[in-house]
Amino acid sequence: MTQPLNVKFVYALWGTVSRYQQMLRNYVPNPDSYPWMTGEPPELFRWTLLTPLAYEAVMDKIIAEQQQRRRKGELDFLMYDSGGFQTLRKNYTIEDIIRKDYELYTGYPYADGYVLPDLPTGPRKPLEEMELNIVRSIKASFDLFHMLPDELKAKSIPVYHARKIEHIDWQYEKFQHITKHSKMASYSIAGLNKKFNAKHMGFIRYLKSLQPDCHIHLLGVGTPPAIFCMEQVGVNTFDAMTPHRIATLGKVATFYGALAYSSNLEESVEEVAIEEMREQTGHRCPFCDDLKRLKMEPRYRIMHNWIVYEELRHYYGQFDLESFQSYAPKWYKQLDITFHPEKHKKVEFEQPSLF
Ligand SMILES: [Zn+2]
Repeated sequence: MTQPLNVKFVYALWGTVSRYQQMLRNYVPNPDSYPWMTGEPPELFRWTLLTPLAYEAVMDKIIAEQQQRRRKGELDFLMYDSGGFQTLRKNYTIEDIIRKDYELYTGYPYADGYVLPDLPTGPRKPLEEMELNIVRSIKASFDLFHMLPDELKAKSIPVYHARKIEHIDWQYEKFQHITKHSKMASYSIAGLNKKFNAKHMGFIRYLKSLQPDCHIHLLGVGTPPAIFCMEQVGVNTFDAMTPHRIATLGKVATFYGALAYSSNLEESVEEVAIEEMREQTGHRCPFCDDLKRLKMEPRYRIMHNWIVYEELRHYYGQFDLESFQSYAPKWYKQLDITFHPEKHKKVEFEQPSLF
């Protein structure tokens, strides 16, 4: 195996880790002797993202587990997400999010990164609404940031949203105050297009050129070949619920995308495709060793999917630009290889004001 990519997958947890670790222990009693693709057991859940707002009722239990994992050396980085997307789903206002995040972040101050609140805008909403949400997100971020103790301020992560390059400038100007301490920022694709595309990649490349030493986290992008593009534009970490979510929908992750199992067929085309993937990539895991079981059991699909996502950086590490172009031409096309930040000179803008 060649060098893996630097970009890391952050596990967006839906519950405790222990039941998955138990599954692994049950099915791989001797992980060191199992024929893993990389030659070593995959290091699952070392980088983890929690949304405290989504787990309010069981926070004590989930956090206690992460503390224990840290003591045992099983956790490298724990990140809290602000749950800003809850403004779209529940009847939360941004003020509710600020208040709840404050309570949860200061009540459980055990993370390495604290995402500041943001207001996502659906891609079909008008530009004016999105720009207003950007301004409101900046304000909400600072409202929470100023309330946090210094120790947490230094681990704060503001969220960038953009439909135009100027939007990056707006936020950069304000967020510098935060990122010069924390050296971390995140970028959300909500609001432009649900798919990670050339525009997003250009914006991230630009953001990285403004602050090369800043750790950039990409929120919620889960299509496998995207990882190669992330590395090219300077993303350091990304999270996705994709592996878990698609498993519950009966889908299996491959290194190229998701495959759906058809319950009507005795041996579906997808089973053949999984076999081919194992053949071509060398992927092995105890959860897809038996394809019938993979088809029947959601937990098996979850475990297999997570292992595939952990292995993505190893798999895509074998490509250079040229070989990636022939392997994933559509994704290659999205990579704005010729992007030059100097082309995107800072522009004068009329920023909607809430201040
Ligand atoms: Zn597998």
